[in-house]
Amino acid sequence: MSGFDFELFVIGGGSGGVRAARIAAGHGARVAIAEEDRFGGTCVIRGCVPKKLLVYASRYSDAFEDAQGFGWSIEAPRFDWETLIAAKDKEIARLEGLYRQGLDNADVTVFSERAVFEDRHTLRLASGRTVTADKILVATGGTPNFDEKLEGRQHGITSNEAFHLETFPERVVIAGGGYIAVEFAGIFAGLGAETTLIYRGPKILRGFDEDLRDAITEAYETRGIRLVLGHIFSKIEKTDRGLIGHLDNGAHLEADQIMFAIGRSPNVKGLGLEALGVEQGWNGHIVVDTDSRTNVENIFAVGDVCDRFNLTPVAIREGHAFADTQFGGEPWQIDHALIPTAVFSTPEMGTVGLPEHEAMEHCKVLDIYKSSFRPMRATLSGRDERMLLKLLVDGVSQRIVGCHIVGDDAAEIAQMAAIAMRMGARKEDFDRTMALHPSAAEELVTMRNKSETRRQAAD
Ligand code: FAD
Ligand code: NDP
Repeated sequence: MSGFDFELFVIGGGSGGVRAARIAAGHGARVAIAEEDRFGGTCVIRGCVPKKLLVYASRYSDAFEDAQGFGWSIEAPRFDWETLIAAKDKEIARLEGLYRQGLDNADVTVFSERAVFEDRHTLRLASGRTVTADKILVATGGTPNFDEKLEGRQHGITSNEAFHLETFPERVVIAGGGYIAVEFAGIFAGLGAETTLIYRGPKILRGFDEDLRDAITEAYETRGIRLVLGHIFSKIEKTDRGLIGHLDNGAHLEADQIMFAIGRSPNVKGLGLEALGVEQGWNGHIVVDTDSRTNVENIFAVGDVCDRFNLTPVAIREGHAFADTQFGGEPWQIDHALIPTAVFSTPEMGTVGLPEHEAMEHCKVLDIYKSSFRPMRATLSGRDERMLLKLLVDGVSQRIVGCHIVGDDAAEIAQMAAIAMRMGARKEDFDRTMALHPSAAEELVTMRNKSETRRQAAD
């Protein structure tokens, strides 16, 4: 690596960047990393972790209600937003410190400032200093989208601000029907806000299995979350009574906060990629090959900035594979199939493999096993909610191609099912597995009767 300050320079100290920097340094490379905000990135600072803490907080309202069926009397529990946010911030600061410490321990040179390309081997730091590197990894993540043309959009917030609201909004309207919109609707409703979700399509959670979409829709409506479907905002107005979101059909929604969760875009603005000729896709995402290499030989990219699967474990693994491959003499590539994922709604949704509509494209014959039941806890709590477990089986190979769950611990169950599916589990493997009783997940190994068999139409 003659002549360069570093063998590897990583732009972005989030999930993918930090993992790549630490592993490359562990292989003996001279590594630097730049972070313009806080180490830990989206997941730790303003994503998965604070979100999950808020989800936990929001579920106590159910617990207080349900407890009464089990003999507890709980006098008027009160929720305090400021206490929750302060506790959450303390934990995030602790995690951020661990991220920094991990980099220091690995002997990674840390720059707490923005870095952009000067040329294909040179980075310009916000302080004005320039540094050179043989290989450069872009791991700059993504940022929330706003509808730039929407009048009054500046009165709305995104998930970034939702984690830092000074006061708890009694009335919240959330625009979008994907992961973040559905999760935050559950959070705000659970914490006691009057919550409305406005989505442009006919049914939330597009792309997921239809049964899951229906189950979450039904559960949210039962919980009093108002779903306004088939509409978008035409204007946001600020008044002395709060915000008014005008809809495209002339109706309006009043709120203390209006949150936009309408997707995220790769964080590439001002990086200088265009001048280097780095190939970018429709929304600016960096196009990479299976080794995370761009069309410019010494520049690589991992994580959300590539817009492949925008999930933390994927960014981490992409960063790890890159570092092992380029610096460890142990080349390996990520297999992006069978990625388990959860929507931390309440009730929760966990899934791995293909949804039914996609499984039908891959399987000539598809066996569908479904079980919808009242979970045991609901018998005494009286909660009117059902658990759903669904297995999709390739009718020819008998391999499990999809596993979909709605209900308590759906994420945990999906993670375990993913191991079996990764190993190529067939339906008979599930059937031969002893049930663990009493549990909800035991339904996965006791589903004897097909709900339906579907066949591809003959050409
Ligand atoms: P990031 O973690 O975004 O890191 C990029 C870093 O680069 C940032 O810290 C940024 O400040 C920095 N940066 C950008 N440009 C520069 C520059 N020029 N110079 C220096 N630094 C720069 N995923 C899950 O798997 N599970 C979840 O439950 C989950 N929940 C989420 C909830 C929310 C609200 C959000 C927004 C996302 C969630 N995600 C979740 C997605 C997950 O957070 C991302 O997929 C993951 O963080 C991507 O990691 P990354 O390394 O690609 O980017
Ligand atoms: P999603 O892609 O999940 O959802 C975006 C939503 O916004 C969709 O319902 C989409 O509708 C809608 N939308 C898009 N553009 C517009 C527009 N112009 N006007 C109105 N609605 C619009 O993105 P999120 O922002 O919810 O989350 C970003 C990503 O972060 C996720 O895709 C996921 O990868 C990751 N994430 C993961 C989580 C987890 O693992 N639990 C949690 C949170 C985020 P349509 O469907 O019709 O296109």
